[in-house]
Amino acid sequence: SSCAHPLRTSHTPAPPPSPLPLVSRLFQPSNLREGQDSGDLTCRSQRLMLQAGLLHPSNPGCFYYLPATVRSMEKLVRLIDQEMNAIGGQKLDMPALCGADLWRRSGRWDLMGKEMFRLRDRHGIDYCLGPTHEEAVTELLASQANLSYRQLPLLLYQVTRKFRDEQKPKFGLLRGREFYMKDMYSFDVSEEAAHHTYQSVCHAYGRLFDRLGLRWVQVQADMGNIGGTLSHEFQLPADVGEDRLLTCGSCSFSANVELLEAGQTDCPQCQAGTLVESKGIEVGHTFYLGSKYSEVFSATFNTAQNKPTLAEMGCFGLGVTRILAAAIEVLSSDDAIRWPGLLAPYQVCVLPPKKGSKVVALTGLAEELALGLGSLPGLRGEVVLDDRTQMTIGKRLKDASQLGYPYVVVVGQGVAEQQPQFEVICQQSGETLFLSRDALTDLLSRVE
Ligand code: ATP
Ligand code: MG
Ligand code: MG
Ligand code: MG
Repeated sequence: SSCAHPLRTSHTPAPPPSPLPLVSRLFQPSNLREGQDSGDLTCRSQRLMLQAGLLHPSNPGCFYYLPATVRSMEKLVRLIDQEMNAIGGQKLDMPALCGADLWRRSGRWDLMGKEMFRLRDRHGIDYCLGPTHEEAVTELLASQANLSYRQLPLLLYQVTRKFRDEQKPKFGLLRGREFYMKDMYSFDVSEEAAHHTYQSVCHAYGRLFDRLGLRWVQVQADMGNIGGTLSHEFQLPADVGEDRLLTCGSCSFSANVELLEAGQTDCPQCQAGTLVESKGIEVGHTFYLGSKYSEVFSATFNTAQNKPTLAEMGCFGLGVTRILAAAIEVLSSDDAIRWPGLLAPYQVCVLPPKKGSKVVALTGLAEELALGLGSLPGLRGEVVLDDRTQMTIGKRLKDASQLGYPYVVVVGQGVAEQQPQFEVICQQSGETLFLSRDALTDLLSRVE
């Protein structure tokens, strides 16, 4: 039609197709040599991530997150964004450098003790590197003089680096001194509304872990020095976990031991069941804060009667980098990473034949196949070609299984025969399939 929409950009050329990622060019240097002493490698995920070129160690508790890790983390953050947006969360980004005055006002400048990284600027003003942001976000809200009850609930969150001078950084990304956290802060008009928000965030957390295919438990938890009156942790059951959990055999009660009297063995909820202990990795933590912080900073909203009233707050953390490592920890075997399907850095790896082999003529087909699969809607940028054809298929398969591609496609002997058959190793199900090209395309069209 003649009335073209002003924003329609029909003359903008499509972006050029992204080049096929080649394994020989991917920057994933292994930090473990064969036979290297692994005495200081304290858990499976740390060893696997160093071995597969996902992490490079820096200062204690600090790591270079190598490209494959960043791809995976970006996928995780996208999922988190979806779940937070679905409950009305709005993403912002607060300064990591936090002035001491805010923390003095809440009393936590002293309370945080040695865990806080402190520094001083050229004017002699004290700062910390933010370990969490209750003070900052509450002050932000308090600066809004005319906040109306109609604007609540307000759910603000960020995904940023946090800094904590952990006494014992260990287990790789499970306990770093610099790590990514998703922290959300909620502001509500009443205690009842804040409880409602609290539940909706807990449900969103549950949905996230379900989508990742991780087994999780929600347990009652200690308030720590954050303060508040209601708190839960989201824990992934794992032996390497540093938290001890008590679960009742007869009712729904489940709590972190930190919450109970030492040695308590009878269930405080039903008084009948016995408490069974297990270990978990804390991947999320939710708190109902009440008006503890809004009072300190005078974070108020105006009611329908135009009366300034303190906002009821909640805060909700997710350990982004810890979730990555914890997922690897609980899903992987000793020598092969298994990712939650949605988080694998790349979905598919195509293996062309070895240089000089009988079927070397199929090398071009392998490239063409990889390009074709990579243009499927769910697989853009997700298909890599292991072009290291000086290596045997077997050696490259071993690397591929170590890195944990959900699908590995071998273009070899089977393809050369009458009925072209691609060998497809499906990591999640453990199956090896022999598929025609159409059947392979059909299978991979279903990847999210
Ligand atoms: P922990 O008990 O393991 O020290 P925390 O209770 O001190 O954790 P919170 O203040 O509740 O941690 O922070 C929210 C989330 O941030 C935690 O549930 C966890 O997933 C993550 N997290 C906390 N500390 C670290 C760390 N040192 N390295 C990686 N992730 C962390
Ligand atoms: Mg801690
Ligand atoms: Mg804890
Ligand atoms: Mg906690």
